[in-house]
Amino acid sequence: MHAALHARHRAVLPDWLALYYRQPIEITHGEGRYVWDAEGRRYLDFFGGILTTMTAHALPEVTEAVAAQAGRILHTSTLYLDRPMVELAERVARLSGIPDARVFFTTSGTEANDTALLLATAYRRSHQILAMRNSYHGRSFSAVGVTGNRAWSPTSLSPLHTLYLHGAVRTRGPFAALSDAEFTAACVADLEDLLGQVGGDVAALIAEPVQGVGGFTAPPDGLYAAFREVLNRHGILWISDEVQTGWGRTGDHFWGWQAHAAAGPPDLLTFAKGIGNGMSIGGVVARADIMNCLTANSISTFGGSPVTMAAGLANLDHLLAHDLQGNARRVGGLLIERLRAATAGNEAVREVRGRGLMIGIELAGPDGPSGSGAPTAADAAAAVLEAAREGGLLIGKGGGHHGAVLRIAPPLSLTVAEAEEGAAILQAALDTVRVTRTGEVGT
Ligand code: PMP
Repeated sequence: MHAALHARHRAVLPDWLALYYRQPIEITHGEGRYVWDAEGRRYLDFFGGILTTMTAHALPEVTEAVAAQAGRILHTSTLYLDRPMVELAERVARLSGIPDARVFFTTSGTEANDTALLLATAYRRSHQILAMRNSYHGRSFSAVGVTGNRAWSPTSLSPLHTLYLHGAVRTRGPFAALSDAEFTAACVADLEDLLGQVGGDVAALIAEPVQGVGGFTAPPDGLYAAFREVLNRHGILWISDEVQTGWGRTGDHFWGWQAHAAAGPPDLLTFAKGIGNGMSIGGVVARADIMNCLTANSISTFGGSPVTMAAGLANLDHLLAHDLQGNARRVGGLLIERLRAATAGNEAVREVRGRGLMIGIELAGPDGPSGSGAPTAADAAAAVLEAAREGGLLIGKGGGHHGAVLRIAPPLSLTVAEAEEGAAILQAALDTVRVTRTGEVGT
């Protein structure tokens, strides 16, 4: 039955819709930090926190809020007043740190970034954009055009002219040996040099504070503040893509930009994914003068739908009442320590890094895409993913161009016992995958 569903999926859906696992999983229900597949197998979910489930699967407060709202009215449109939308906008605006903030709700992260790019280009009357190497910002024509990783951006055609900066990744290449201060100075000098060549006619920098699809790579704290001083001199806006980092995921901060706070809040920030704990909410927060630079009439038929807003409000209440950001810091800190200890001496592991409940394990081995001939680090990542699944644990993979990173992002309510359980399964999975110095991958 399961194989038959896979065959039907393949027959009718696009080939480029990536599916995890040799035999993909059909998840039928979840509770807390666990999900169950159609065959009744239980998995500890170490990835759903980024995908959709910010706090916990089947959180009763969210389910009840959605059911209550659905019982009244599902949706009309933004042509009428929508109380839950106004309430969530007020709260997100206050939390954003952006002065005189306005909020526009969308139904995805892609659409949020697309809107932010529309605003920035209209405000600055320029279609030149700065983006980071190894970035991911979504699937629309403009979002693809600022995504630095060709494995996740299917075309180089774009309505934007994009220039890619150094700063987010330094595990490889000439930057690997530099200190934080040296690396930051080198990246700022690179930015200055680039702007010297193209002039000040650039609309915005769009950047993820911690790169998600790119493999949970983060620049040194303060790098974007250092960039900002240069950007400000040219009037260039800063868009912080908080689709993965928003709402306390990194433990230390509510938003990822706060690790770079010296230069103040960004001009625009975008959010999505787990905000509705499974309901589709995305959006943009921007300073009023930027948001209101568009003067034509507009409507978002589904953005801000009361059912999704009810989910977002209940999710936010729960997250704040239970200090899940603090939980991410504490349990995430323990989990990183536990994983570092578990992988010490394992030559298959290049680095365990992360912040809060956003933890990456970068594997060693030759570069190159999975399945391209000689076994690569990406092959090792795929093998660990399969082995973890066998052990009852779902994790993610990624790592931009090299695809060599395992990604861990559980719901923010993860307990210490669950962190221990997941770390033990992961240790066993990593132990079964051996990358020798010649690059041979054994499982
Ligand atoms: N920005 C970032 C940082 C993301 O990780 C993603 C999704 N992986 C997106 C934007 C796009 O979001 P969506 O899939 O909701 O369109």
